[in-house]
Amino acid sequence: MIEQTLIILKPDTVQRGLIGEVIQRIEKTTLKIVAMKMVYANKAQAGEHYADDQEWLMSVGEKTLKSAEKKGIKLSRTALEQGQWVRQMLMDYITMSPSVCLVIEGHGAVAKIRMLCGGTSPQEATPGTIRGDFAIDSYMLADSSDRPVQNLIHASGTVEEAKREIKIWFTDKEIHVFKRVDEDLVYRKGSS
Ligand code: GDP
Repeated sequence: MIEQTLIILKPDTVQRGLIGEVIQRIEKTTLKIVAMKMVYANKAQAGEHYADDQEWLMSVGEKTLKSAEKKGIKLSRTALEQGQWVRQMLMDYITMSPSVCLVIEGHGAVAKIRMLCGGTSPQEATPGTIRGDFAIDSYMLADSSDRPVQNLIHASGTVEEAKREIKIWFTDKEIHVFKRVDEDLVYRKGSS
């Protein structure tokens, strides 16, 4: 199915000069960049993107508690408190310096991009993925440094999430309709 997904190259990607490297990996898959811009996010955009949503806050918090538990560390915050704390740090982080936002389109774009990104914690992300190759951060290091995990890239988790997020960063006019020259091959139909 042809889908669209939102990617944000977060301030660590921009500041480390990795924009080209990350975009190249995406382009090479044959997924299509249909929108792209550098954004110095304001608090309102950050707050909308990292929504004050109970389900998201709990899932972020639980992920960290589980990771700490595996390492035998007991955190003092509840899952919800951890989620709220992370949200605040993410909002501060994404408004700190420019990011690059892109809309990527193609067959199975949402899942494919998540696979290219790798796991949330770069320390555990598989080598070959963007986070696995270009970052070393972990939940523990980030938490003890009072900042979000620096993992270079945000990518929508579902098609629905992508629809909501794309509207925050792009107007309809900024999303382009065009054909890549390799599309005839990529989406080729057999003769039978
Ligand atoms: P993603 O979809 O892989 O980006 O992960 P999430 O949606 O769960 O979390 C959003 C972002 O919050 C992550 O990319 C990290 O930058 C940051 N983050 C998530 N969980 C934690 C945490 O427990 N501690 C810290 N410091 N940052 C976190």
